[in-house]
Amino acid sequence: MTNSFDPDSIELPIGHLIDGELLPTNDGLAMHRPSDGAEYAHCPVADAEMVDRAVQSARRAQAAGWGSAVPRDRTRALQRWADLIESHARELAQLEALCSTRPVSQLAAGDIAVTAEQIRFFAELADKEGGDLAPTAQGSLGMTVTEPYGVVGAITPWNFPISMAGWKLGPALAAGNAVVLKPSEMTPFSSIRMAQLAVQAGIPAGLINVVLGDGPVTGTALTGHGQIAKVSFTGSTAAGQAIMGNIARCGTKPVTLELGGKSPQIVFADADLDLAADNIARSIVFNAGQACVAGSRVIAHASIADDLAARLMARMQPDRPGPTWQGDTAYSPIISEKQRQRIAGILGQAVDGGAEVLCGGHALDRAGYFFAPTLLDGVDQNSPAVQQEIFGPVLTLQRFDTEEEALALSDHPIYGLCAGIFTRDLSRALRAMKRVQAGTVWINRYGRSRDHILPTGGYRQSGIGKDLGREAYHANRQSKTVLIDI
Ligand code: NAD
Repeated sequence: MTNSFDPDSIELPIGHLIDGELLPTNDGLAMHRPSDGAEYAHCPVADAEMVDRAVQSARRAQAAGWGSAVPRDRTRALQRWADLIESHARELAQLEALCSTRPVSQLAAGDIAVTAEQIRFFAELADKEGGDLAPTAQGSLGMTVTEPYGVVGAITPWNFPISMAGWKLGPALAAGNAVVLKPSEMTPFSSIRMAQLAVQAGIPAGLINVVLGDGPVTGTALTGHGQIAKVSFTGSTAAGQAIMGNIARCGTKPVTLELGGKSPQIVFADADLDLAADNIARSIVFNAGQACVAGSRVIAHASIADDLAARLMARMQPDRPGPTWQGDTAYSPIISEKQRQRIAGILGQAVDGGAEVLCGGHALDRAGYFFAPTLLDGVDQNSPAVQQEIFGPVLTLQRFDTEEEALALSDHPIYGLCAGIFTRDLSRALRAMKRVQAGTVWINRYGRSRDHILPTGGYRQSGIGKDLGREAYHANRQSKTVLIDI
């Protein structure tokens, strides 16, 4: 079968990558494959000493000329890297599929091709974005010049390993920084391989160092390191808070945080219900709901809620669940048994509170950590199923009568990552768009067509700052104001 591969035949690049060299290690955290539960490797844990070694190497590489090079040289090197990522798409897809929840068929032409394009986008910005000239009085000149920070510490989650690494590395490197990257301890392989390809592309060794390990040991050492000039993090809101606390204890530095979500999808009575159901179901079935943007709360007008529920149930079937290394697999496992149990626990609480399971609600009877797409009706606004980021294939359905009520239900006290609005009435759509507290709003679609030219990030505790777009590039440079008497 095209794309299928044998997970036991893959040679795993495992170890910290410093100065372009993979440091072999044996011990560390046991790694289990979500597709079949097998223990297959150990992820080493970098201590503070190893993190310091990576930071010092990155400082040397950055100071040796990357930050002060002619910007076009950075552009060319990053373009060569993007080309190599593309030409190694099959290998990267296998490394990613092996340890993560993403079926191999979705990766090479999906995440990996998109990551290469995003790196090209940032590469092109390297010699196009500069500082400002101020309209100062005659006889004086005022301007800003922008400069890289030095070494950026980047930390990424397990749910989209290559994409998240690309979101961090592309703008930081284009802007002239070095990066010490800590990928998730569950999914490190594709990040290591990407960093090796960077050296092959002519990006100086040491400019991307990768340290492996967990949050409490390696992540804490990285974010608190005195010579990490900026931190860029994607992960849970709880870890984001811990990182801010650690940074505050160790000093201060700029931080970009892309955090969790609990995004609402408001469906008005005049909406195209098939279109809404297609988008909503896809957003919660894709990667078994393990996406920050998952539109996990449906808020539907009472007059169409039952009709919408029927259309959702028809679309929320686990389509071709299977091992992520099998070419025809479409439906993802949950990342771990612990997370699968957490999903079941939240569902149990909701049902005890009076909610009704319209479909799913159970683990799939097969090897691996699979859970059926689940639609919950009759959930209370205060239920954990509505309030907590479940990070699984669970959709709640709530009903409203008035626009005001819909907006009140959509408002979450903590999260503000994304929102969806479905209606044929443009004025209503724009009215709601202006009121919802979310960093991204989709109207009559959900979760697709994310364009790397546009920034992405959260309102409220879903994040600080933006990834992608020009904003991400500028977040990786600091500006110096210069005033001259002529
Ligand atoms: P997580 O917060 O558990 O871990 C993310 C990364 O942070 C991992 O590399 C982990 O080792 C590290 N980490 C954990 N605690 C840390 C600490 N105290 N200091 C430093 N590093 C620490 O998240 P996860 O389970 O890997 O990913 C799922 C979460 O990520 C969800 O909440 C999801 O919404 C969020 N996410 C957000 C976006 C976005 O763009 N907003 C994108 C993808 C995922």
